[in-house]
Amino acid sequence: MAERKRILITGAAGFLGSHLCDRFIKDGYHVIAMDNLITGRLKNIEHLFKLEQFEFYNHDVSKFIHVPGKLDYILHFASPASPIDYLKIPIQTLKVGSLGIHNCLGLARVKKARVLIASTSEVYGDPTVHPQTEDYWGNVNPVGPRGVYDEAKRFQEAMTMAYHTFHGVETRIVRIFNTYGPRMRLNDGRVLPAFIGQALRGEDLTIFGDGSQTRSFCYVDDLVEGIVRLLQSDYAQPVNIGNPDEISIGDFAEEIIKLTGTNQKVVYHDLPVDDPKQRQPDITKARQLLNWEPKVGRAEGLKLTYDYFKGLSANELNEKEHIDFDRYIH
Ligand code: UDP
Repeated sequence: MAERKRILITGAAGFLGSHLCDRFIKDGYHVIAMDNLITGRLKNIEHLFKLEQFEFYNHDVSKFIHVPGKLDYILHFASPASPIDYLKIPIQTLKVGSLGIHNCLGLARVKKARVLIASTSEVYGDPTVHPQTEDYWGNVNPVGPRGVYDEAKRFQEAMTMAYHTFHGVETRIVRIFNTYGPRMRLNDGRVLPAFIGQALRGEDLTIFGDGSQTRSFCYVDDLVEGIVRLLQSDYAQPVNIGNPDEISIGDFAEEIIKLTGTNQKVVYHDLPVDDPKQRQPDITKARQLLNWEPKVGRAEGLKLTYDYFKGLSANELNEKEHIDFDRYIH
């Protein structure tokens, strides 16, 4: 039997990282999962611990990374990823996007591994071009509350390109748009778990602003498929992966109310600073280069996600992370 390919996944215990672990195990890889568990949770990957082709390192990738043996691929997915998280841990957010990627790229260079980094639609900031194409440079406020995430991710792309052009490292950059599915943290502040959690607890749904801002939500399985195809491609420039089906947050709240059958109403809070007014990926590149497009519609994806959240224990459902709305808004 051919030797298994070995892949390092950073942020492996997070929402996306854990789904990537599952996919690469399924595809026959040896998976080395790394996470410092600040926002990730072991629960997301504990079903893999019994497998001999899976290993877990509790490690902060902002510090020197040592992995024995050969490595074929590195996926850098370690980072806080919700506005609430990067407000709570801004310095770590900056470090994992800068020192963390530097360590990953250095490791890739010595191991001759191909690296794929998780970038984000946040590199476009509050976009003035709609839908967002990869050649749009963005509209980011470096010193606003989102700056620590947006600029770390922009730096990460620049560092990755530099290792590609200067050191010849094989690199791939995926710009991920809003993604949802099972294993999102219920109380990380993101809109989908926020709404579903509120519906399940019998609370009103909190819309920030007037709800006219838009997002385009991609189901996690579609995203993972796009990432796998990009990794196997020979394309080093950034590629958007997301679902172009755009919806306003107000209409999204209505969909969640219907889905969950809750009797709660919506209540309005101030819109957070620099909250993008509209977001929709242009996925022409992914269609042409990777022959990829999303397959799971919102109705199906939301149902799968709701089923997951319904299965959580009462403790998990009620465990609230403190959200300092005041700090978020001003
Ligand atoms: N949002 C909301 N209510 C919430 C949480 C978020 O209306 O309880 C809004 C938020 O202001 C933003 C959108 O939903 O306009 C998506 O927010 P999220 O944090 O999920 O992702 P991002 O802003 O990074 O796309």
